Amino acid sequence: MPPASSTTAAAEPRRIPRAEHAVSREHISASALQVLSRLHGAGHRALLVGGGVRDLLLGGEPKDFDVATDATPEEIKRLFRSCRLIGRRFRLAHVRVGREIIEVATFRGEHDGGVDGEVHHDGRIVRDNVFGTLEEDAQRRDFSINALYYDFADDAVVDFVGGMQDLRDGTLRVIGEPYKRFREDPVRMLRALRFAAKLNFSVQPDCAAAIRELGELLEEIPSARLFEEVLKLFQSGYGERTMELLREYDLLVYLLPMTDSAMRRDPFAERLMMQALANTDARLAEDKSVTPAFLFAAFLWPSVSRRAAELRERGEQASAALQQAASELMPAQQEATALPRRFAVPMREIWQLQDRLAVLNGKRSLRVLGHPRFRAAYDFLCLRAEAGEKLQKEAAFWTEIQEQHPEQQVRTASATGGKSRRGRGRRRRRRPAGDSAAAST
Ligand code: ATP
Ligand code: MG
Repeated sequence: MPPASSTTAAAEPRRIPRAEHAVSREHISASALQVLSRLHGAGHRALLVGGGVRDLLLGGEPKDFDVATDATPEEIKRLFRSCRLIGRRFRLAHVRVGREIIEVATFRGEHDGGVDGEVHHDGRIVRDNVFGTLEEDAQRRDFSINALYYDFADDAVVDFVGGMQDLRDGTLRVIGEPYKRFREDPVRMLRALRFAAKLNFSVQPDCAAAIRELGELLEEIPSARLFEEVLKLFQSGYGERTMELLREYDLLVYLLPMTDSAMRRDPFAERLMMQALANTDARLAEDKSVTPAFLFAAFLWPSVSRRAAELRERGEQASAALQQAASELMPAQQEATALPRRFAVPMREIWQLQDRLAVLNGKRSLRVLGHPRFRAAYDFLCLRAEAGEKLQKEAAFWTEIQEQHPEQQVRTASATGGKSRRGRGRRRRRRPAGDSAAAST
């Protein structure tokens, strides 16, 4: 019997036979089935668990399939040639089958903080490598709907924690005591909102109360792990709804402190974020690519452009002002959520190109069309226009000219350039020739 505090709704495990649930082998990837079959054939327990089972039960299309087994990592390694053992917090096996990687994890148990399971003084689990039974494995998972197993041995779904009922009710429920489970791993609070947004589930009241109270614990999470989580929050296709929930539960400030304050202070910032996320969601729905560089360009733009404007007021030239504003503000962002260089560099290029796209100065404007970041910068200009900045004319200009033949482009640019410059009342001496950000390209 598990201790009373770690049980949830259901008192005993339920096995739901194949005839009574929706998980069919037809919908499980061939690679996952191959891994399950090999483990099973070698006399081990072999089950699917997590998002794969959850999404199949809901009639959705799983992103990936995770396998749970009683085989130890060493036994898994002996069974599969293309197997790598990874992870520090959790030791896992990655089995490669064709192009797919199947994550195979040994059942984990509860631990008392001994050598293989270390608990930080604040209740945070920093290492979790104690092996356990299937039931213990279910109990240490985060939410009831994530702790449903599909058993390869007889195709039954195994439910220790009332996950089936919660799936039917549309309830996101923590397994065990929410305060304890969120202290163990504060990232679970972000996962809660991510699943609530993705599945359109309601957060169970005790769980909701705990999140409202414990947000601060996210300050302890390494900024690199938070970055990974931010990507899952905003690039899983439900970013707009996720943003609403993050603000409702007041967690945004721990991920994107400047975005949080900009959205509170400035309706334009709010529109810009929601529009950026709506566009990202729409792109993902069409299987188009998205990049964190673009999303972070939007998240930080209100703060960076505001600071750049202050610096320009003091006589700094536009491109330098923007560079300096970014350099001043990025450290605070990096401390919360660390944006890796490979995204931070293109993000800054997107910003730097904004001035070149906003000033239409005849034929010279056209050079920017060849810039490797032109497309992203153009999309960003359109986003700003959509969010209400007076850039509709410029956005229309670049939209039109991209479609044109080079000779036609020159004619359009010569015609539009002069007019626009006068119209915007730009002062030329502030923008000496050759000062543009991307002049090097
Ligand atoms: P997704 O659709 O995003 O892949 P998922 O539920 O599969 O959702 P994963 O991050 O792939 O999420 O994790 C797989 C499973 O591992 C989860 O369903 C859950 O059972 C367990 N798990 C993952 N992270 C945690 C955590 N921080 N605490 C407890 N259990 C976790
Ligand atoms: Mg998963």
